[in-house]
Amino acid sequence: MLTTLKDRSVIVTGGSKGIGRGIATIFARQGAKVTIAARNEDQLRQAAAEIPGDVRYETCDVSAWASVERLFASTAEAQGGIDVVCANAGAFPQTKIIEMEADEWDTVLATNLRSSFLCVKAAIPYFKQVGKGRVILTSSITGPVTGFPGWAHYGASKAGQLGFLKTAAMELSRYNTTINAVMPGNIFTEGLQDLGQEYLDTMAASIPLKRLGNVEDVGNAALFFASDEAAYITGQQIVVDGGQIIPESLEAIDEI
Ligand code: NAP
Repeated sequence: MLTTLKDRSVIVTGGSKGIGRGIATIFARQGAKVTIAARNEDQLRQAAAEIPGDVRYETCDVSAWASVERLFASTAEAQGGIDVVCANAGAFPQTKIIEMEADEWDTVLATNLRSSFLCVKAAIPYFKQVGKGRVILTSSITGPVTGFPGWAHYGASKAGQLGFLKTAAMELSRYNTTINAVMPGNIFTEGLQDLGQEYLDTMAASIPLKRLGNVEDVGNAALFFASDEAAYITGQQIVVDGGQIIPESLEAIDEI
């Protein structure tokens, strides 16, 4: 049993849907004060109303500094500071390199990687104030460990988050703050559903545990990194993928 996160102030970017909503649900269930952030206000309002617990919302574009700075200031005011930041928002359009426009590359890198830097930068003054803090990045197995046609930009952004993580861990240690990353495999979310049933079926068949992950599987890993029990872990990552990256060959799965 982990020490409770009751009354801790938490921000979850991309909290209106999918993995972010799962992370927000897990923290709210612990009694934390949670702000979910994304661009679409209707979806945010609905998610905040549906997630049981103390959940509010703010619109934010995580790729824009002014927007992120505003999110942190208003959340700190509403929730009495900031204890935990889950930098989770991300996008994964699928386009092969030969067809990819430079603008799409830039948008994906800004949404997934620049945003990690902006959230950490925005959080530092609040962590500094109280002398502690926690950051959890949502990376992926795609990029750091695996590749998939159409996701060169996405993979680069997700591997980039882990590169950022190492130096951020050193700089944040000064404020008694840890930063770690969750690396989901294929998690059943609205975003993943958009890739089609055939993709979902093929992926489920390639996973030793024989199912896609659910959003709370990732939320529980994030919760561990935010817990008091994880106080001495920083600059690290945990794969949450049902064993997907383990098989040495396609045939290995049939041997199970
Ligand atoms: P999703 O269902 O598409 O949800 C994405 C969330 O991010 C939404 O709340 C979206 O809201 C928000 N978002 C996107 N762009 C944003 C921006 N510029 N500013 C603020 N919010 C933004 O995606 P998901 O599957 O839950 O993925 C969430 C994270 O997990 C991403 O970082 C993704 O790379 C990572 N991940 C997912 C999987 C998976 O299998 N699902 C696997 C590995 C890693 P708005 O569009 O309203 O802004």
